[in-house]
Amino acid sequence: MIKDMLNNCLTQKEVLVYYNANVTYQLLPIGINGFVFNYKGINNIIINNSLSYYKKRKTLLHELAHIELNHLCQTDKDLLALYIDKYEDEADKYIKFLLE
Ligand SMILES: [Zn+2]
Repeated sequence: MIKDMLNNCLTQKEVLVYYNANVTYQLLPIGINGFVFNYKGINNIIINNSLSYYKKRKTLLHELAHIELNHLCQTDKDLLALYIDKYEDEADKYIKFLLE
């Protein structure tokens, strides 16, 4: 799905609808680009509003990768994927792979 978005076959909005995801831009502490959590079946993506356009987009792709790779189902509900290094690496590698 992310691949379809990167290839311009699907819009970002269509991908968000498919994954039941909402994006919120808000000020987050420096060093936190964003995170994602599932609450009552909705994937809530929070992105640091102080980032540049490019970094916001990169962060959104990263958080979508967590959803697409099912990282949220494998973690404790209260635990944000943000804190799990293994999933962080996997999400980044996945986006890198899609962009190649
Ligand atoms: Zn992450």
